[in-house]
Amino acid sequence: MAEQLISVAIDDTDSQYGGCTTHLTGLVLSELRGKVRLADYPLLVRLNPNIPWRTRGNAATVLRLLYDGDPQDLLELAWSMALEYTQPRPPLPGKSPGVVVYVGRPWELERLRWLYRKALSDVVTFDVATKALEGGRALWRGGRGVIGAASSLAALAPGDPYTFELTFYRRPEAWGTRRCVSSPKVIELEGLSHGTLNNVELDKELTSAAPGGPDPVLAGFRGTDAEELWKFEEALCERPHFAVLYRSNQHTGVHASPLRPLVYRSVSMKVTVSSRPLKLPGGHVIVEARAADGDVYDIAFYEDSGPLARAAGLLRPGDVIEVVGGVRPYSPRGRPTVSAELMSVLSLADEFVEVAPRCPRCGSRMESAGKGKGYRCPRCGFSLPEGGRLRLSLTRELMPGHYYYRGGRARHLTPVGASLPVLRELQSVKVDDVMRTY
Ligand code: ATP
Repeated sequence: MAEQLISVAIDDTDSQYGGCTTHLTGLVLSELRGKVRLADYPLLVRLNPNIPWRTRGNAATVLRLLYDGDPQDLLELAWSMALEYTQPRPPLPGKSPGVVVYVGRPWELERLRWLYRKALSDVVTFDVATKALEGGRALWRGGRGVIGAASSLAALAPGDPYTFELTFYRRPEAWGTRRCVSSPKVIELEGLSHGTLNNVELDKELTSAAPGGPDPVLAGFRGTDAEELWKFEEALCERPHFAVLYRSNQHTGVHASPLRPLVYRSVSMKVTVSSRPLKLPGGHVIVEARAADGDVYDIAFYEDSGPLARAAGLLRPGDVIEVVGGVRPYSPRGRPTVSAELMSVLSLADEFVEVAPRCPRCGSRMESAGKGKGYRCPRCGFSLPEGGRLRLSLTRELMPGHYYYRGGRARHLTPVGASLPVLRELQSVKVDDVMRTY
């Protein structure tokens, strides 16, 4: 059979008891080594971060392969490995892996591109996902994971921005134990690099590349320069099992959609602030804001977002902002709540204070003579009629511009202010360049 482009997409193989879809993808790649060529980097695709049934970061993976065998064999191999991978762990209610194999260039099929865009910002049903796969070029197996797998096929197409993540995995005997990743070394390496993204919480002097929990990930380093990321090997003080270099849509902001802000959607909305910020104990900030159609929302800025929440605390009624965020399923103040992950301040309203005038005769600050009775000078007794109040313009502390999450804490798809490369065309890579075993 002639070599053809075949994508193998996987999702929903992890659980909170351990495992990770990207880890399984590394195992599948290792199994395929020598039997296929890679038409692209392995892909780490993040989908709508506001889907409530995700385990952590709503990730799916895709291997774009050049293969001269039967696509059905790839499906059976990935599916049997997914079953073996998920079965030893206690299943969670509703957990169900999915594998999709697609022959050809999926991003050229409009309905798969549409599905990808929809899954980035909206809720997709199983029927919608499998309908988009119909037409004979796709094979699939599994349950709900088919949604994420099918939706990821057309991600990271030519013309799309991208980043990289180099993920190191732990040896099985270390799972569940404390990870050893040197934060000082990560900070030092970050200082020497040009294109790393969101790996360090500088204010806490900690790396955010190493997760908590029982999953097999030791650390995932993000950036725009693949070569540079391999240097982060030096920060590992625990011997990894293997590493995989992914191309990803992380931090590209592709989930920000102009959709109507319905629950669980990721949206980008232009609104006018209509209240002074409400500062909650704990540092969270809530701002009431009105969209162009008159609907009013509560925009929530969580303390964890750092500079974003601090900037929100400086908003005033009349400010026009654009917010990227997720629509929450609760409305504590009777209005839909959007949790913000990014804010652009487009224009600032003028802010004034009104003060009593100075006495034109002796220069003292005058006092109100009572409601509607004007002003009276406490020193010389001079009177002024009502309306003599001074309106002073205040200098706003906030500036127009973009406000981001605290470094190291940005959500997976949220832009972090870096300029990103754009994919021109698929570029085949050697397995040895994207996978190392230790
Ligand atoms: P990890 O980050 O460790 O991979 P996860 O957060 O990706 O975990 P999953 O176990 O993959 O969590 O669960 C996400 C589930 O949601 C999958 O079954 C996937 O098919 C489904 N899903 C993903 N995007 C959407 C969407 N937009 N609409 C509906 N379902 C979705």
